[in-house]
Amino acid sequence: MARVVKGKELINTRLAANYGGWIYCDGCQENIGYLCYSTYDSIKIRYKCNCGSSGFISLDFADGKIGHKCANELITIKNRLCCPSDNEPLITLLNKKLKSYELEITCKFCGGKYKKRTVTS
Ligand SMILES: [Zn+2]
Ligand SMILES: [Zn+2]
Repeated sequence: MARVVKGKELINTRLAANYGGWIYCDGCQENIGYLCYSTYDSIKIRYKCNCGSSGFISLDFADGKIGHKCANELITIKNRLCCPSDNEPLITLLNKKLKSYELEITCKFCGGKYKKRTVTS
């Protein structure tokens, strides 16, 4: 079932579909990751691509719940960042194409809100 997007802001970034799919950098047109359609309630990501461009994505849904802060770290399963409570895949970020990123994502299933901040190179 399609979800109703409430807030959406994309800067220097394109998504393959309305609220998920491949994530592209507008600076170099490379795909820098993949956002899973149906497992998150809100996302905020700020990243710096290897090409020098800085991108930003913010998205949430009309039926989204307000998440609760979670001290646990996201876990990586087959290069996807997943919720540590239920192993749901949330997003893939291609570290080798990014200089750094700052991610905040809420899992739709458990409401856990996770933060990750990385410098990859
Ligand atoms: Zn780029
Ligand atoms: Zn979860």
